[in-house]
Amino acid sequence: MKRKTCSKCKKSKGRQQFSKNASNVDGYDHYCKACNSKRMHKYFSTRKGKAAMDRATRRRKRR
Ligand SMILES: [Zn+2]
Repeated sequence: MKRKTCSKCKKSKGRQQFSKNASNVDGYDHYCKACNSKRMHKYFSTRKGKAAMDRATRRRKRR
């Protein structure tokens, strides 16, 4: 199984520990899922993050 090193925690993890990101060369995120969720959690606790989440949910509901 191919492994990838997270650029945040510098740990080598299996590809399934990374979320897919088509904008990256290898198709996976630079950060592992653990770091990503931590980052998102921090982001969504800010006012800007809350507003973004609010917008995203509203858009999803309308669809
Ligand atoms: Zn990580």
